[in-house]
Amino acid sequence: MPVDGLIMPEQDAEGTVRAIAPALLAHYRRHARRLPWRSPPGTPPPAPYRVWLSEIMLQQTTVAAVIPYYERFLARWPTVEALAAADDAALMAAWAGLGYYARARNLLACARFVAGELGGRFPDDEAGLRALPGIGAYTAAAIAAIAFGRRAVVVDGNVERVVSRLFAVETPLPAAKPMLRELADSITPDADAGDFAQAMMDLGATICTPARPGCLACPLQTFCAARAAGDPERFPVKAPKKARPTRAGTAWWVEAEGAVWLVTRPERGLLGGMLGVPTSDWVERGAADPTLPPLPGDWVGVAGAVRHVFTHFALELRIERLRLARPPAGARLVSALGEGQWWPLDRLDEAGLPTLFARVARAVREESASG
Ligand code: SF4
Repeated sequence: MPVDGLIMPEQDAEGTVRAIAPALLAHYRRHARRLPWRSPPGTPPPAPYRVWLSEIMLQQTTVAAVIPYYERFLARWPTVEALAAADDAALMAAWAGLGYYARARNLLACARFVAGELGGRFPDDEAGLRALPGIGAYTAAAIAAIAFGRRAVVVDGNVERVVSRLFAVETPLPAAKPMLRELADSITPDADAGDFAQAMMDLGATICTPARPGCLACPLQTFCAARAAGDPERFPVKAPKKARPTRAGTAWWVEAEGAVWLVTRPERGLLGGMLGVPTSDWVERGAADPTLPPLPGDWVGVAGAVRHVFTHFALELRIERLRLARPPAGARLVSALGEGQWWPLDRLDEAGLPTLFARVARAVREESASG
């Protein structure tokens, strides 16, 4: 299907488009990455549970980071029923470090829905999958294609990059997204949907990389308009970036009798449901920070601020530390710092702190060691 206004590398644009999938699939059969959630090319697909678990973990996260988590989850919760029965806190702790914690809460909600309402069977088409918690358009298409062999147009950032180069799309992202989807649709075959989706993922991850794509090793080099134009790295064209704002706040580290006060963060919001030390509100850096310490006492600043980058902003947390001879009364503590628990300092590694609060703990530990 020719798309107006695009450079095509050959005269016979329609024939070119049709030839892309066979060339890519032939390459995939020989060079597919071996990943623990995959079946080899041309063999029956893996269980939908495995595909779903891996796709949720892979959202905004690299393959290398996901592999150990995937293997641990599968060993501990080998079926959707087992995962549905997991304790919330145990699951959140097992997820700690993987980031984007709303995924973990949705994972549990989805497992419980599938195990409880659907008899343990995942829906086998995109519409049914999209109705489940935590499953958006991309993930639904990926599961439908990989686990159920449905023809589905699977478009993530890697696929957008490959397609924008194949067709030398000059429209900048994000405005180009609908066009890139249409182009991805035009090269998606009717059969071998799962292998094709995974072949595109592999191509984007290993050959058609953001910087210095390996065009000489690419099975699509003869079809590629960006390569023909001599500058594949120029694609995808991007609109100028807005700077990511920085927010600032204070982490309140309260210690007594060899334990630190940890609160469970509100379910909704960043790091929702995870354990952490109490913090002030996070405000734009430079804005007046009127926060007073939540408890009276000899607060001491810990050297250096912890910096953490979220999707839409960067955060700098100062750390203030208070050492108490004995814990204040429970009600007073809760009203000052929020619902929580005393967690033994020598078992802090078992708390499953998300990266931000693990960094806070490390800064405190390093200061203790040096002082
Ligand atoms: Fe990407 Fe190069 Fe292949 Fe084109 S030829 S798809 S730019 S790796």
